[in-house]
Amino acid sequence: MRLAHRIKAAGHSWIEESLRFLESHPEIISLGAGEPDFPAPKNVSVAAKKFLSRGFSHYAPLQGRHELREALAKKLKRENKIHATPEEIIVTCGSKEALLLAMMTTTDPGDEVIVPDPGYVAYRPMAKTLNCVPVPIHLREEDNFEIHPDELKKLITKNTRLITINTPSNPTGTVFSKKILEEIADILVEKNIIALVDEAYEKLIYDGAKHISLASLNGMKDYVITTQTFSKSYAMCGYRVGYAVATEKIIREMKEFKICTTLSAPTAFQLAAIDALKKSEPYVKKMRKEYARRKKLLHKRIDEIPNITHNKPKGAFYFFSNIKETKMSSEKFCNHVLEKAKVILIPGTEFGKFGEGYARISYAAAYDKIGEAMDRIENVLTKI
Ligand code: PLP
Repeated sequence: MRLAHRIKAAGHSWIEESLRFLESHPEIISLGAGEPDFPAPKNVSVAAKKFLSRGFSHYAPLQGRHELREALAKKLKRENKIHATPEEIIVTCGSKEALLLAMMTTTDPGDEVIVPDPGYVAYRPMAKTLNCVPVPIHLREEDNFEIHPDELKKLITKNTRLITINTPSNPTGTVFSKKILEEIADILVEKNIIALVDEAYEKLIYDGAKHISLASLNGMKDYVITTQTFSKSYAMCGYRVGYAVATEKIIREMKEFKICTTLSAPTAFQLAAIDALKKSEPYVKKMRKEYARRKKLLHKRIDEIPNITHNKPKGAFYFFSNIKETKMSSEKFCNHVLEKAKVILIPGTEFGKFGEGYARISYAAAYDKIGEAMDRIENVLTKI
Protein backbone atom coordinates (compact mmCIF):
# COMPACT_ATOMS: atom_id res chain seq x y z
CA MET A 1 0.00 0.00 0.00
CA ARG A 2 1.45 3.37 -0.99
CA LEU A 3 1.68 5.92 1.83
CA ALA A 4 2.59 9.59 1.73
CA HIS A 5 6.20 10.71 1.24
CA ARG A 6 5.76 13.06 4.18
CA ILE A 7 5.82 10.17 6.69
CA LYS A 8 9.60 10.28 6.27
CA ALA A 9 9.57 13.75 7.85
CA ALA A 10 9.03 12.36 11.33
CA GLY A 11 12.22 10.24 11.36
CA HIS A 12 13.65 7.88 13.92
CA SER A 13 13.53 8.82 17.58
CA TRP A 14 16.11 7.62 20.11
CA ILE A 15 14.01 9.29 22.83
CA GLU A 16 10.93 7.22 22.07
CA GLU A 17 12.89 3.97 21.90
CA SER A 18 14.71 4.56 25.19
CA LEU A 19 11.49 5.48 26.98
CA ARG A 20 9.90 2.27 25.71
CA PHE A 21 12.91 0.37 27.03
CA LEU A 22 12.39 2.07 30.42
CA GLU A 23 8.91 0.53 30.78
CA SER A 24 10.33 -3.00 31.00
CA HIS A 25 13.52 -2.14 32.95
CA PRO A 26 12.64 -0.62 36.34
CA GLU A 27 16.31 -0.54 37.40
CA ILE A 28 16.95 2.22 34.87
CA ILE A 29 16.96 5.84 36.04
CA SER A 30 15.79 8.32 33.44
CA LEU A 31 17.45 11.72 33.24
CA GLY A 32 15.87 11.94 29.81
CA ALA A 33 12.50 13.37 30.78
CA GLY A 34 11.07 16.34 28.93
CA GLU A 35 8.14 16.89 31.27
CA PRO A 36 7.77 17.90 34.92
CA ASP A 37 7.73 15.02 37.41
CA PHE A 38 5.35 17.03 39.64
CA PRO A 39 1.58 16.51 39.57
CA ALA A 40 -0.65 19.37 38.44
CA PRO A 41 -1.56 21.83 41.24
CA LYS A 42 -4.31 20.52 43.51
CA ASN A 43 -6.59 23.52 42.88
CA VAL A 44 -6.40 22.76 39.15
CA SER A 45 -7.30 19.07 39.43
CA VAL A 46 -10.16 19.97 41.80
CA ALA A 47 -11.41 22.58 39.32
CA ALA A 48 -11.10 20.13 36.41
CA LYS A 49 -13.17 17.53 38.27
CA LYS A 50 -15.79 20.16 39.08
CA PHE A 51 -16.13 21.28 35.46
CA LEU A 52 -16.27 17.68 34.20
CA SER A 53 -19.02 16.77 36.67
CA ARG A 54 -20.97 19.93 35.78
CA GLY A 55 -21.28 18.73 32.21
CA PHE A 56 -18.62 20.76 30.40
CA SER A 57 -18.29 17.92 27.94
CA HIS A 58 -18.94 19.82 24.71
CA TYR A 59 -16.64 21.42 22.16
CA ALA A 60 -15.26 24.83 23.00
CA PRO A 61 -15.25 27.64 20.39
CA LEU A 62 -12.50 27.22 17.77
CA GLN A 63 -10.47 30.07 19.23
CA GLY A 64 -10.91 28.87 22.83
CA ARG A 65 -13.18 29.84 25.75
CA HIS A 66 -13.53 33.59 25.98
CA GLU A 67 -13.03 33.69 29.77
CA LEU A 68 -9.68 31.89 29.38
CA ARG A 69 -8.53 34.24 26.62
CA GLU A 70 -9.47 37.21 28.80
CA ALA A 71 -7.46 35.81 31.70
CA LEU A 72 -4.55 35.13 29.31
CA ALA A 73 -4.63 38.71 27.98
CA LYS A 74 -4.19 39.95 31.57
CA LYS A 75 -1.42 37.43 32.25
CA LEU A 76 0.45 38.35 29.04
CA LYS A 77 0.33 42.03 29.94
CA ARG A 78 1.32 41.53 33.58
CA GLU A 79 4.05 38.92 33.15
CA ASN A 80 5.31 39.23 29.58
CA LYS A 81 4.58 42.90 28.78
CA ILE A 82 2.73 41.71 25.67
CA HIS A 83 -0.35 43.84 25.12
CA ALA A 84 -2.95 41.66 23.41
CA THR A 85 -6.73 41.52 23.22
CA PRO A 86 -8.60 38.19 23.56
CA GLU A 87 -9.06 38.35 19.74
CA GLU A 88 -5.27 38.17 19.40
CA ILE A 89 -5.06 34.88 21.33
CA ILE A 90 -5.94 31.34 20.28
CA VAL A 91 -6.15 28.42 22.71
CA THR A 92 -4.71 25.15 21.41
CA CYS A 93 -4.10 21.52 22.42
CA GLY A 94 -0.75 22.19 24.03
CA SER A 95 1.64 24.68 22.49
CA LYS A 96 2.68 22.01 20.02
CA GLU A 97 -0.56 22.54 18.12
CA ALA A 98 0.01 26.28 18.27
CA LEU A 99 3.45 25.83 16.69
CA LEU A 100 1.99 23.72 13.87
CA LEU A 101 -0.93 26.10 13.21
CA ALA A 102 1.52 29.01 13.16
CA MET A 103 3.70 27.27 10.57
CA MET A 104 0.63 26.30 8.51
CA THR A 105 -0.49 29.93 8.51
CA THR A 106 2.81 31.57 7.58
CA THR A 107 4.47 29.21 5.09
CA ASP A 108 3.93 27.71 1.65
CA PRO A 109 5.60 24.57 0.25
CA GLY A 110 9.23 25.28 -0.64
CA ASP A 111 9.58 28.14 1.86
CA GLU A 112 12.56 28.10 4.19
CA VAL A 113 12.08 27.92 7.95
CA ILE A 114 15.12 28.68 10.09
CA VAL A 115 15.29 26.27 13.04
CA PRO A 116 17.68 26.26 16.00
CA ASP A 117 20.24 23.43 15.96
CA PRO A 118 20.50 22.01 18.57
CA GLY A 119 16.81 22.74 19.00
CA TYR A 120 13.51 21.28 20.09
CA VAL A 121 12.76 18.06 18.16
CA ALA A 122 9.41 19.19 16.70
CA TYR A 123 10.40 22.17 14.53
CA ARG A 124 12.20 20.26 11.77
CA PRO A 125 9.58 17.54 11.20
CA MET A 126 6.79 20.13 11.33
CA ALA A 127 8.46 22.21 8.62
CA LYS A 128 9.15 19.10 6.54
CA THR A 129 5.58 17.84 6.91
CA LEU A 130 4.41 21.14 5.41
CA ASN A 131 6.87 20.62 2.52
CA CYS A 132 9.00 23.51 3.73
CA VAL A 133 12.79 23.44 3.95
CA PRO A 134 14.13 23.55 7.52
CA VAL A 135 17.36 25.54 7.59
CA PRO A 136 19.40 24.83 10.74
CA ILE A 137 21.09 27.72 12.50
CA HIS A 138 24.11 26.46 14.41
CA LEU A 139 23.88 27.40 18.09
CA ARG A 140 27.36 27.25 19.57
CA GLU A 141 28.47 26.57 23.12
CA GLU A 142 30.86 29.55 22.94
CA ASP A 143 27.81 31.76 22.24
CA ASN A 144 26.01 30.17 25.20
CA PHE A 145 23.81 28.45 22.58
CA GLU A 146 22.14 31.76 21.67
CA ILE A 147 21.46 32.71 18.06
CA HIS A 148 24.38 34.67 16.62
CA PRO A 149 22.77 37.59 14.76
CA ASP A 150 25.46 37.65 12.01
CA GLU A 151 24.89 33.96 11.33
CA LEU A 152 21.14 34.54 11.21
CA LYS A 153 21.58 37.31 8.64
CA LYS A 154 23.71 35.05 6.48
CA LEU A 155 21.07 32.31 6.43
CA ILE A 156 18.20 34.55 5.34
CA THR A 157 17.35 34.24 1.65
CA LYS A 158 14.45 35.46 -0.48
CA ASN A 159 12.69 32.18 0.42
CA THR A 160 12.94 32.57 4.22
CA ARG A 161 9.46 32.84 5.66
CA LEU A 162 9.86 32.09 9.35
CA ILE A 163 12.50 32.03 12.07
CA THR A 164 11.86 29.75 15.05
CA ILE A 165 13.27 30.86 18.38
CA ASN A 166 13.01 29.03 21.69
CA THR A 167 13.74 30.78 24.98
CA PRO A 168 14.26 29.37 27.58
CA SER A 169 15.54 26.65 25.34
CA ASN A 170 15.13 22.92 25.08
CA PRO A 171 17.67 21.20 25.00
CA THR A 172 20.24 23.75 26.20
CA GLY A 173 18.43 25.65 28.98
CA THR A 174 19.65 28.92 27.46
CA VAL A 175 17.72 32.09 28.27
CA PHE A 176 18.15 34.62 25.46
CA SER A 177 19.55 37.98 26.57
CA LYS A 178 17.76 41.25 25.84
CA LYS A 179 20.71 42.36 23.69
CA ILE A 180 20.45 39.33 21.38
CA LEU A 181 16.66 39.64 21.19
CA GLU A 182 17.02 43.31 20.22
CA GLU A 183 19.47 42.43 17.48
CA ILE A 184 17.11 39.74 16.19
CA ALA A 185 14.26 42.28 16.29
CA ASP A 186 16.26 44.64 14.03
CA ILE A 187 16.83 41.80 11.56
CA LEU A 188 13.12 40.89 11.48
CA VAL A 189 12.20 44.48 10.63
CA GLU A 190 15.00 44.89 8.06
CA LYS A 191 14.12 41.62 6.28
CA ASN A 192 10.35 41.76 6.93
CA ILE A 193 10.20 38.26 8.39
CA ILE A 194 8.08 36.73 11.14
CA ALA A 195 9.55 34.97 14.19
CA LEU A 196 7.79 32.07 15.85
CA VAL A 197 8.87 32.32 19.49
CA ASP A 198 8.34 29.25 21.64
CA GLU A 199 8.22 30.23 25.33
CA ALA A 200 7.11 26.87 26.75
CA TYR A 201 9.59 27.17 29.66
CA GLU A 202 9.00 30.88 30.41
CA LYS A 203 8.46 30.35 34.15
CA LEU A 204 11.35 27.95 34.73
CA ILE A 205 14.11 30.50 35.23
CA TYR A 206 16.97 30.45 37.78
CA ASP A 207 20.00 32.29 39.10
CA GLY A 208 18.42 35.75 38.83
CA ALA A 209 17.89 35.44 35.05
CA LYS A 210 14.92 37.16 33.44
CA HIS A 211 12.75 35.80 30.67
CA ILE A 212 12.06 38.44 28.03
CA SER A 213 9.40 38.02 25.36
CA LEU A 214 10.56 39.15 21.93
CA ALA A 215 6.99 40.34 21.25
CA SER A 216 7.27 42.82 24.14
CA LEU A 217 10.11 44.77 22.49
CA ASN A 218 9.27 48.02 20.79
CA GLY A 219 7.45 47.56 17.47
CA MET A 220 7.71 43.77 17.55
CA LYS A 221 4.07 42.82 17.96
CA ASP A 222 3.45 42.58 14.21
CA TYR A 223 6.54 40.44 13.62
CA VAL A 224 6.12 37.80 16.31
CA ILE A 225 3.91 34.80 17.00
CA THR A 226 4.45 33.78 20.61
CA THR A 227 3.47 30.35 21.92
CA GLN A 228 3.16 29.47 25.60
CA THR A 229 1.69 26.53 27.51
CA PHE A 230 0.34 25.27 30.82
CA SER A 231 2.37 22.06 30.38
CA LYS A 232 5.70 23.04 31.91
CA SER A 233 4.85 26.10 34.03
CA TYR A 234 2.02 24.38 35.89
CA ALA A 235 2.98 20.71 35.36
CA MET A 236 -0.18 20.21 33.28
CA CYS A 237 1.24 18.35 30.24
CA GLY A 238 -1.69 15.91 30.06
CA TYR A 239 -4.31 18.66 30.19
CA ARG A 240 -3.20 19.73 26.71
CA VAL A 241 -3.80 23.46 27.03
CA GLY A 242 -1.49 25.88 25.24
CA TYR A 243 -1.97 29.08 23.23
CA ALA A 244 -0.55 31.48 20.71
CA VAL A 245 -0.61 35.27 20.67
CA ALA A 246 -0.10 37.25 17.46
CA THR A 247 -1.86 39.85 15.30
CA GLU A 248 -5.60 39.43 14.93
CA LYS A 249 -5.15 38.57 11.25
CA ILE A 250 -2.72 35.71 11.97
CA ILE A 251 -4.86 34.37 14.82
CA ARG A 252 -7.96 34.46 12.60
CA GLU A 253 -6.15 32.37 9.98
CA MET A 254 -4.81 29.94 12.60
CA LYS A 255 -8.39 29.54 13.78
CA GLU A 256 -9.45 28.51 10.26
CA PHE A 257 -6.90 25.68 10.29
CA LYS A 258 -8.15 24.51 13.69
CA ILE A 259 -11.06 22.89 11.85
CA CYS A 260 -8.50 20.50 10.32
CA THR A 261 -6.72 19.72 13.58
CA THR A 262 -8.37 19.43 17.00
CA LEU A 263 -11.36 21.80 16.84
CA SER A 264 -10.79 22.73 20.47
CA ALA A 265 -8.63 22.02 23.47
CA PRO A 266 -10.62 20.11 26.16
CA THR A 267 -13.35 22.46 27.43
CA ALA A 268 -13.21 21.50 31.12
CA PHE A 269 -9.42 21.81 31.13
CA GLN A 270 -9.52 25.24 29.48
CA LEU A 271 -11.69 26.35 32.40
CA ALA A 272 -9.41 24.64 34.94
CA ALA A 273 -6.48 26.49 33.35
CA ILE A 274 -8.05 29.77 34.54
CA ASP A 275 -7.66 28.42 38.06
CA ALA A 276 -3.98 27.80 37.38
CA LEU A 277 -3.53 31.42 36.27
CA LYS A 278 -5.38 32.80 39.29
CA LYS A 279 -4.25 30.58 42.15
CA SER A 280 -1.23 28.43 41.30
CA GLU A 281 1.66 30.90 41.46
CA PRO A 282 2.80 29.68 44.94
CA TYR A 283 2.93 26.13 43.54
CA VAL A 284 5.00 27.28 40.55
CA LYS A 285 7.39 29.01 42.97
CA LYS A 286 7.73 25.80 44.98
CA MET A 287 8.48 23.73 41.87
CA ARG A 288 11.00 26.28 40.65
CA LYS A 289 12.79 26.19 44.01
CA GLU A 290 13.05 22.41 43.85
CA TYR A 291 14.30 22.50 40.23
CA ALA A 292 16.93 25.03 41.32
CA ARG A 293 18.08 22.67 44.11
CA ARG A 294 18.38 19.78 41.65
CA LYS A 295 20.17 21.98 39.13
CA LYS A 296 22.78 22.87 41.75
CA LEU A 297 23.32 19.20 42.56
CA LEU A 298 23.66 18.22 38.90
CA HIS A 299 26.07 21.10 38.26
CA LYS A 300 28.32 19.90 41.10
CA ARG A 301 28.13 16.24 40.05
CA ILE A 302 28.97 16.94 36.39
CA ASP A 303 32.00 18.92 37.62
CA GLU A 304 33.21 15.85 39.53
CA ILE A 305 33.01 13.44 36.59
CA PRO A 306 35.94 13.14 34.15
CA ASN A 307 35.58 13.95 30.44
CA ILE A 308 32.18 15.64 30.62
CA THR A 309 31.48 19.31 31.25
CA HIS A 310 28.35 21.39 31.61
CA ASN A 311 27.07 24.52 29.92
CA LYS A 312 25.60 27.45 31.86
CA PRO A 313 21.84 27.06 31.56
CA LYS A 314 19.58 29.50 33.37
CA GLY A 315 16.23 28.08 32.35
CA ALA A 316 14.07 25.02 31.56
CA PHE A 317 15.27 21.83 33.33
CA TYR A 318 18.20 20.69 31.20
CA PHE A 319 21.98 20.74 31.03
CA PHE A 320 23.51 20.28 27.60
CA SER A 321 26.68 18.52 28.57
CA ASN A 322 29.80 18.49 26.40
CA ILE A 323 31.02 14.88 26.13
CA LYS A 324 33.64 15.34 23.38
CA GLU A 325 36.53 14.34 25.68
CA THR A 326 35.07 10.83 25.97
CA LYS A 327 35.93 10.41 22.24
CA MET A 328 32.52 8.80 21.69
CA SER A 329 29.74 10.04 19.46
CA SER A 330 26.66 11.34 21.29
CA GLU A 331 24.66 8.25 20.47
CA LYS A 332 27.47 5.87 21.40
CA PHE A 333 27.99 7.74 24.66
CA CYS A 334 24.29 7.55 25.60
CA ASN A 335 24.12 3.87 24.61
CA HIS A 336 27.21 3.21 26.74
CA VAL A 337 25.71 5.05 29.74
CA LEU A 338 22.42 3.22 29.29
CA GLU A 339 24.03 -0.19 29.01
CA LYS A 340 26.66 0.15 31.76
CA ALA A 341 25.17 2.68 34.18
CA LYS A 342 21.49 2.01 33.47
CA VAL A 343 20.80 5.72 33.10
CA ILE A 344 18.96 7.39 30.23
CA LEU A 345 20.48 10.57 28.82
CA ILE A 346 19.47 11.96 25.43
CA PRO A 347 22.07 12.19 22.62
CA GLY A 348 22.61 15.77 21.45
CA THR A 349 22.06 14.63 17.86
CA GLU A 350 18.36 14.06 18.61
CA PHE A 351 18.17 17.87 18.51
CA GLY A 352 20.01 18.32 15.21
CA LYS A 353 23.38 17.55 13.64
CA PHE A 354 25.12 20.33 15.60
CA GLY A 355 24.18 18.51 18.81
CA GLU A 356 26.98 16.01 18.07
CA GLY A 357 29.40 15.87 21.01
CA TYR A 358 26.71 16.68 23.59
CA ALA A 359 24.11 14.89 25.75
CA ARG A 360 21.00 16.39 27.30
CA ILE A 361 20.67 15.73 31.03
CA SER A 362 17.27 16.52 32.52
CA TYR A 363 16.66 17.40 36.15
CA ALA A 364 12.92 16.77 35.94
CA ALA A 365 13.67 13.76 38.15
CA ALA A 366 13.71 13.38 41.95
CA TYR A 367 16.77 14.80 43.80
CA ASP A 368 17.84 11.40 45.15
CA LYS A 369 17.47 9.76 41.74
CA ILE A 370 19.71 12.41 40.20
CA GLY A 371 22.34 11.71 42.88
CA GLU A 372 22.19 7.95 42.31
CA ALA A 373 22.24 8.29 38.51
CA MET A 374 25.33 10.51 38.66
CA ASP A 375 27.07 8.06 41.03
CA ARG A 376 26.49 5.33 38.46
CA ILE A 377 27.69 7.48 35.56
CA GLU A 378 30.80 8.52 37.50
CA ASN A 379 31.61 4.86 38.12
CA VAL A 380 31.29 3.98 34.46
CA LEU A 381 33.14 7.02 33.08
CA THR A 382 36.14 6.74 35.41
CA LYS A 383 36.66 3.31 33.84
CA ILE A 384 36.96 4.57 30.25
N1 PLP B 1 8.13 23.63 23.08
C1 PLP B 1 9.16 23.04 23.69
C2 PLP B 1 10.48 23.69 23.64
C3 PLP B 1 8.98 21.83 24.37
O1 PLP B 1 10.03 21.25 24.99
C4 PLP B 1 7.70 21.23 24.36
C5 PLP B 1 7.48 19.92 25.00
O2 PLP B 1 8.37 19.21 25.38
C6 PLP B 1 6.66 21.90 23.71
C7 PLP B 1 6.91 23.10 23.07
C8 PLP B 1 5.27 21.33 23.62
O3 PLP B 1 4.63 21.33 24.82
P1 PLP B 1 3.04 21.29 24.92
O4 PLP B 1 2.49 20.87 23.60
O5 PLP B 1 2.77 20.28 25.99
O6 PLP B 1 2.62 22.67 25.30
